Amino acid sequence: MKRDKRDSRVVILGVCIVLIGVVFFLGFKSHEEVKRVVQEQYGEQQLMLARQAASAIAEFADERVTVIEILARERSGDTVENVTRSFKTIYTATGGFYSIEYINTSGVVVYGYPEERAPIGYNLYAENRSGMFDAARDTRETQICRPVPLFEGGLGTFIWVPLYKEDEFQGVILAIIKISTISDLFLVPLTENRTGEVYMIDGRGQLLYDGEAVVTGGVRGIVEEQKNGTEGTATYIDHTDKEHIVAYAPVRWRNQEWSVGITAPVSEVDLLIRSVYARQMIFMGAVIAIITGGSAGLILMFSRWNRTLEAEVKEKTRDLIRANEQLKELDKLKSDFVSMVSHELKTPLAAMKTAAQVLSVADAEDTKREMVSIILRNIERQTKLVTDLLDLSRIESGGMALKMERVSPGAVVADAVESVRHEAEEKGLTLKIELPESLPPVRGDREKLRQVVINLLDNAIKFTSRGVVCIKAREVNGDVEVRVSDTGMGIPEEEQNRVFDRFYQVGNPPQTGGTGLGLAICKGIIEAHGGRIWVESEPGRGSTFVFTVKKA
Ligand code: ADP
Repeated sequence: MKRDKRDSRVVILGVCIVLIGVVFFLGFKSHEEVKRVVQEQYGEQQLMLARQAASAIAEFADERVTVIEILARERSGDTVENVTRSFKTIYTATGGFYSIEYINTSGVVVYGYPEERAPIGYNLYAENRSGMFDAARDTRETQICRPVPLFEGGLGTFIWVPLYKEDEFQGVILAIIKISTISDLFLVPLTENRTGEVYMIDGRGQLLYDGEAVVTGGVRGIVEEQKNGTEGTATYIDHTDKEHIVAYAPVRWRNQEWSVGITAPVSEVDLLIRSVYARQMIFMGAVIAIITGGSAGLILMFSRWNRTLEAEVKEKTRDLIRANEQLKELDKLKSDFVSMVSHELKTPLAAMKTAAQVLSVADAEDTKREMVSIILRNIERQTKLVTDLLDLSRIESGGMALKMERVSPGAVVADAVESVRHEAEEKGLTLKIELPESLPPVRGDREKLRQVVINLLDNAIKFTSRGVVCIKAREVNGDVEVRVSDTGMGIPEEEQNRVFDRFYQVGNPPQTGGTGLGLAICKGIIEAHGGRIWVESEPGRGSTFVFTVKKA
């Protein structure tokens, strides 16, 4: 048994270890998968940000060019004063320009707004910088150059819009947008509340904006991709060996093709995953706690039920066994009863038969008389037996009817004593009656109580060869107690309780020709009255039978 238990424990332990291993393996696998998916999604999200910023920048720049072009078209025939008068309005209303300048036909800056930012008198030809100016004039088209350094520092993009009055060239409006204006508006906000960086390059890979100088080493390869005007995500390792994820999107406006890049350390993704895991762990922990708590509760409940059920089954089995034993006993009693009754009924019959046979052939008067008296005695005996049996069966079936009334115990005792006086005197026994003056009446059936007292007195006389038979009555705790004592043979202690059983008689064979039913009937009658009956005895010195009946 013990070995079996240990073996099954080892098996369970093994299964647990294997299961834990499987869980770990699957956990590791799913971690890889989760990491890949989260990284992908994170990149997607970054890419979307990059796209949004790129299209906002393109729109912003396009709009600025269009505004200047509209101005050039509408003011084509106007004087220089009229044209330049609109600069201030456009500058303040549109916003985003660094400066707007008017360059006359000979390539000299004649006006600008804001004035302090315009190099009035600057001659493009003299400075050898007339390339874009010439191109605008000759093509009659807006010319935009790639961002170049400004005198004042920083990068700026130059927009050259030619002014024509029909075929007559009138000069060029030059609008400058500072790259820092664009980055302040669209790139710097992207770095707020996040760990990543943002940068922007132009079509040749020149850095236009670089938040935290991210474009070093590793990112170069990506810049090559960006120069092709594509969009996408990639990863690179920086100089501190940290891995970053980059999302980039092209900024297309007019002839310009720039590109915006957003970077973030991959550790950010890990952090995200960890927070997802943490939430999952909390959820799983809660689920496990609920499941284990619930199952433990269920197990406890079931085992308790089980225990109660087992106890109930045990109890019921015990009851059944007991009932079975009682049935067996009853069955035995019934068989004993039947054989005893048959025997008791046969004995007088046999005596009567013999007496009758003798009578039929006897001549002598004496013999005839004796035979008749034998027959009469046996008839009497059998009648008593049958009466006793009927009484007992009524008592045992609960069918004995008691005629309850106020009964004087003194009268019942005196009456009973009178019935047995003759017998006692015949045996030379002294009959003593001790009744107190005032004995309260009891509630009972007069006839039945008399029967009990007569029975006890009869027995006392029957089992006493000399001495005294005494009957006493007194009041005890609201009951009337009657004691019938004798100086007879007494009853051994171990048999004192059994004398109240039907057919029980002390001694084997019994010493008198009784039936063993008298005391059983007495007990039945007294208990039907709600009283008690018992015997106190010392073998060789006498017995005292005591019963109690309730006061009326
Ligand atoms: P019966 O007297 O007809 O045998 P009982 O039921 O009255 O039946 O008594 C049962 C038995 O109890 C008697 O057979 C006898 O052995 C014993 N017994 C009853 N009364 C006395 C007594 N006063 N002294 C000794 N034994 C007694």
